[in-house]
Amino acid sequence: MSDSESTPLPPIVFLIPEATLEQLRARRDQRRSPPPTGGNDPILNTVELAVNAGQYDIAKTARLFCDGMDRLQIEVEDKYDAFLLDPGMGPMTYLTADGRILSDYRIWDGEGIQFETTLERAVPALVVGAKNTGIQSLLELIPSLPNSTICNTCHGSRWFRFGTRETREIVCPTCSGLGQCMPGKNPNT
Ligand SMILES: [Zn+2]
Repeated sequence: MSDSESTPLPPIVFLIPEATLEQLRARRDQRRSPPPTGGNDPILNTVELAVNAGQYDIAKTARLFCDGMDRLQIEVEDKYDAFLLDPGMGPMTYLTADGRILSDYRIWDGEGIQFETTLERAVPALVVGAKNTGIQSLLELIPSLPNSTICNTCHGSRWFRFGTRETREIVCPTCSGLGQCMPGKNPNT
């Protein structure tokens, strides 16, 4: 994860308006569940589950897995004053009150916590977070790129939609959810 040849990049920091922070705090307070029991149980991660799938009692394992997620969420929310944006099909992703994007890989592959250092990784967390939380003002944290043009893939919507019978969507892979592309990066221009 680290590159000893180069200095690590500093985390991307978004400026969060007070009104958005209040919305995030209210949502976190509302949704906080009582601390799960089993505080000493091991935290199961997705990779371990996949490797050892045959050995587990499914119902018990699902409960342990969810309890583990709840415990990690409370820990990260308290330690970093953070707000869950995406429970994830991958790391659990948060926005901290001081504007950083925190990715917790413990529930995914057992790796630790990291702060995202590029817009390409930080912006999708805000786009997904706005959808998951319903707090649309999270999108206003995303900066405009200088000299950029509207993304030709998502036409500025930040989402790439596909499928016919059931439409699915992912954060636009061309612009990483910025809705804009730097000159030369936009396809078909
Ligand atoms: Zn796009």
